[in-house]
Amino acid sequence: MDLPQTNAMTIDVEDWYNSSLDIFKDSDVPHGSKPHESVIKNTLVTLDLLSETNNFATFFVLGTVAEHYPDLVKEIAKRGHEIATHGYSHQLVYNMTPASFEEDLKISLDHLANAGSTDILGYRAPYWSITKKSLWALDSLKKFGMKYDSSIFPIKRGLYGIHDAKTYPNEIIEGMWEFPPATIRFPGLNLPIAGGGYLRLMPYWLISGAIKRSAAKYTRVFYFHPYELDPEDTKLQHKTRSMTTILYWLQQKMGRASNPEKLRRLLTEYKFQSFKHILSEMDLKG
Ligand SMILES: [Zn+2]
Repeated sequence: MDLPQTNAMTIDVEDWYNSSLDIFKDSDVPHGSKPHESVIKNTLVTLDLLSETNNFATFFVLGTVAEHYPDLVKEIAKRGHEIATHGYSHQLVYNMTPASFEEDLKISLDHLANAGSTDILGYRAPYWSITKKSLWALDSLKKFGMKYDSSIFPIKRGLYGIHDAKTYPNEIIEGMWEFPPATIRFPGLNLPIAGGGYLRLMPYWLISGAIKRSAAKYTRVFYFHPYELDPEDTKLQHKTRSMTTILYWLQQKMGRASNPEKLRRLLTEYKFQSFKHILSEMDLKG
């Protein structure tokens, strides 16, 4: 089968504080807490940006967002985007057992169903945490009817990554596709360009050049979080003296002010689609 070529835009729908609890070891806020309501405003801004630039995306909605803000899920779906799951409580997959992973996945699917989205095809792990330690999760995803995963970052970083994983869409287990986030090849390593902090901090020409070079070769997967469109949304909800927390917080603030314009430019100069659309194109080609 030919590799899909359409570029994919993906949005992980969560609030930044509650999705950073694995970094904030000094916070006593438990996983699965109610997300800050700023996720609503920022996701609506995201939807407007996609409409204005005539793009469609896959929204990996965190289960707690669907639980507390079901109307937001309905609005995303109403605007023609794909709803997929980011799990329920934003826990690192390799810290869970297969049983607790499946329970977390099931709860997320139940909340999405309550919000009107029943045909969920895809999953993205919190912090890209399907690594060599947690490849068992792919079988669980298949068991729950997922047709694709987009959780394996083909780099190696502290919390995540498989450095020698494929950098292009591939059938990772029978009947299930893996869509890795975009990287570019430098001698000896893959350099991430797909989104989040990488997109915020890298020069636009580097990202744009990489898309151009790979145009018509295979799908490039990009991502961002709704909170990255709001330069003000970086409030810590606990007092800290932890250097890890402070450094992460500072890194989150970096590049925020220029990020909305950078994303608008990317979405204007290139066309993006949801994974669901890309999978249907692949089916048509057989
Ligand atoms: Zn996340």
